[in-house]
Amino acid sequence: MKQLPRVLVAEDNDLNYELVEFILSSMGLAVSRAARGDQVLDIVSADRPDLIFMDIQLPGVDGLELTRQLKADPHTASIPIVALTALAMVGDRERALDAGCDGYLTKPVVTTDLRESARRFFPELAIPQ
Ligand code: MN
Repeated sequence: MKQLPRVLVAEDNDLNYELVEFILSSMGLAVSRAARGDQVLDIVSADRPDLIFMDIQLPGVDGLELTRQLKADPHTASIPIVALTALAMVGDRERALDAGCDGYLTKPVVTTDLRESARRFFPELAIPQ
């Protein structure tokens, strides 16, 4: 049996995480969580996720710094990272992309946008009715 694609969601807010987890798992993805920035690198090296949704404002280490570190490490550089941020300020998108993010979504999360973002990386995923 083919393994489900694995997604790590780095998100400190419980409600935001639960919403994202619900949407992604309903598409057939295996979802895990990092609730603090300083847990992300350990979880990535242990779990080797296929995709990361990265909150930018995280306790410990912020998501942009984590993205730079993951993209600088040859072992993790190929894992796509999509920034999730409530900071819809001018320049945020550019800062996220400059840090190495492969995509960018604003919060509150819009279900269709999150699904489309996941399908960019896993086109075989079903869209739930
Ligand atoms: Mn946050």
